Amino acid sequence: MGRRLHVLIAGGGLGGLCLAQGLRRFGHSCVVFERDSDLDRKVGYRLHMNADGGEALRACLPPDLFELYLETSRKTPPRQHAVVIDDQLNELSSMPHIGPPNQGPRPHTAVDRRTLRQILLGRLGDAVHLGAAVVGYEEIGDRVRVLLVDGSTEEGDLLVGADGIRSAVRAQRLPETVIIDAAIQGLGLYARSSLPADLQAEIPPVLMDGFVIATDRRDGLLAMGAYNPRRPVTEARAAIAPDIPIDPVDDYMMVGGNPAEGTAIPPFAEWTDATATELRDSMLDAHSGWHPALRGVVERIDPATMFSISFGRLDPTSAWVPSRVTLLGDAIHAMLPTLGQGANMALRDAATLARALAETNDPVAAIAAYEAAMRDYVYPLMEAAADPSSFGGGGLARPAAD
Ligand SMILES: Cc1cc2nc3c(=O)[nH]c(=O)nc-3n(C[C@H](O)[C@H](O)[C@H](O)COP(=O)(O)OP(=O)(O)OC[C@H]3O[C@@H](n4cnc5c(N)ncnc54)[C@H](O)[C@@H]3O)c2cc1C
Repeated sequence: MGRRLHVLIAGGGLGGLCLAQGLRRFGHSCVVFERDSDLDRKVGYRLHMNADGGEALRACLPPDLFELYLETSRKTPPRQHAVVIDDQLNELSSMPHIGPPNQGPRPHTAVDRRTLRQILLGRLGDAVHLGAAVVGYEEIGDRVRVLLVDGSTEEGDLLVGADGIRSAVRAQRLPETVIIDAAIQGLGLYARSSLPADLQAEIPPVLMDGFVIATDRRDGLLAMGAYNPRRPVTEARAAIAPDIPIDPVDDYMMVGGNPAEGTAIPPFAEWTDATATELRDSMLDAHSGWHPALRGVVERIDPATMFSISFGRLDPTSAWVPSRVTLLGDAIHAMLPTLGQGANMALRDAATLARALAETNDPVAAIAAYEAAMRDYVYPLMEAAADPSSFGGGGLARPAAD
């Protein structure tokens, strides 16, 4: 292990918190500055996990918190990464698993995003500062000083921008990088639909497979993913890590889709109490002739969980000169979520950087090694995720016109 470092981390999302855990495990100290004052921002529910992300968690988390992650992961691995079905449940195509082998008695499956974030926050205590947006930084010799929104500053040996697609650290470090608006056809609304145990026993098995996209091959689309953990979240926490605050989670089906044609989705900030219910009813209108099991998923949407989202992505950035300020996760490689890779890669970045910093006394050389590795494993995935034909394995193509 090299010299003990004090690392400043901008952003307490999945990548930033995983890095904080990894740095502690490898003997460094850190402080995380998170813009939000709580975990309530709606950014999504179920996360597809693969061996890249899962093994990064194994490397960074204390063993009992890794066990808690595994036990609160989904029970069954999906057959494929994604399955495309038509509106009557007939399978059209599938997209194979991407990434390293993911087998064994408890392969990496899918998690609840909030539960994973709470596990990653576990025992970080006052190293995490909530409501502390980073607005910039200064490099002063071999130190970095981070500037916070309230005018205060803090110094460390390194700064890691893990502050998401609109990263304030990237805006200063790589100001030429452009965020590309990239809507996904048919996916404007996200919500959770209830999934009680008796329903799980009778719902058509294809809907419980993993990430499922149903299409009428015109404008109608529903994206679904079941979350039913190996062990109920409350029970797993009580048995494995009772000192960690974790909210209870009922089993659910994550749902993405659109309202009926002609119904506009208002900006999320303008939603009233009635908006989500109206949009859910409009989603039902959009799927009027669909199989009852698919309509049932929409009917059971909890309006309180609905939100709208506008997607963006980055293109790979040409190599830059390494310094004491680096970037990880969406801050440097935000991609569309269609391949289920963004969070897995943010976690992998965290483990790669934590390991690199543990292996040398030269932090800038460690950052250079991390950045070179990250470009090699992430850039091909960014390019694949930007290719619309890779979404859903091709089964989304509309029938040829007569
Ligand atoms: C609907 C949806 C579904 C997805 N599904 C999957 C999936 O199944 N599998 C998968 O691997 N990926 C998935 N992704 C992608 C995944 O969510 C992201 O790639 C992942 O969250 C990136 O982690 P991150 O830590 O880099 O960034 P984020 O999770 O965005 O975290 C960044 C953090 O920084 C904070 N922040 C922002 N600005 C500042 C600032 N100036 N100062 C301090 N803090 C700041 C934010 O509040 C946030 O907490 C999905 C994304 C979406 C939108």
